[in-house]
Amino acid sequence: MRDTTWITCPTCNSKTRIKILPDTKIDSLPLYCPKCKQENVISVCNLKIIVNNK
Ligand SMILES: [Zn+2]
Repeated sequence: MRDTTWITCPTCNSKTRIKILPDTKIDSLPLYCPKCKQENVISVCNLKIIVNNK
């Protein structure tokens, strides 16, 4: 498997259940965190997570 990185929750910083690759691109994904039970809309580009809550 290629290098994967767990997406961390923007609210509490714990790992979520979603993994990304170095070239993964995500636009407006509702990311649910099982730990703090918050949902954040995120975008991912070059392993950078951008919170895009509206
Ligand atoms: Zn969280």
